[in-house]
Amino acid sequence: MAERTPIVLASANPKKAAEIVEILGSHLELVPRPPEVPDVVEDDDTFEGNSRLKAVALVEATGLAAVADDSGLEVDALDGAPGVWSARYAGEGASDQDNVDKLLAALADRPDPADRTARFRAVVVLRYPDGSEVVAAGAVEGHIAEAPRGPGGFGYDPVFIPVDGDGRTFGEMSQDEKHAISHRGRALRSLLAQLDHRTA
Ligand code: IMP
Repeated sequence: MAERTPIVLASANPKKAAEIVEILGSHLELVPRPPEVPDVVEDDDTFEGNSRLKAVALVEATGLAAVADDSGLEVDALDGAPGVWSARYAGEGASDQDNVDKLLAALADRPDPADRTARFRAVVVLRYPDGSEVVAAGAVEGHIAEAPRGPGGFGYDPVFIPVDGDGRTFGEMSQDEKHAISHRGRALRSLLAQLDHRTA
């Protein structure tokens, strides 16, 4: 057991928050983010910077420790876009479908999987009220499918085919299969390992 002090979960994205609870919930005492705390403006240009902005805002609002994740998709042929803009790729308030449609249109003239390489990245910041923190990162390499496949997950899952898989998209995998190789699963397991190391 790594940690028994209550830790506020910063994510405002319910599907992302659910994934974090699935992976961390049996190890850490996670409490939901109070609804009255406003969203922070994620205006840093790195995943770590945005993750820290979210964690610090929650620590300041609650006086408790907070854990935040910032994540996104980097497509090589698009010079790393959508990157930190992944949630807003097709514009402010864009739906997952809008973002996927824009991505597939941007890659339409590159049918070869070798020209569609990409990775998901996640950076998790666990921040304590005394200003100390634990930072963990995870990534998963893959390529972008030509069309969406699978009902699972969220965001770009239906068009992301991980190299560590069997050709299915994340959208076609169970949540456990996704967590075993995903950027978020890797970052959160690295966070737990660092906490275990600190308390050992
Ligand atoms: P954030 O809430 O600012 O971290 O936005 C992350 C965005 O990146 C999400 O809205 C998705 O568009 C995308 N993303 C991050 N992680 C995943 C994932 O595990 N699957 C699919 N899309 C993801």
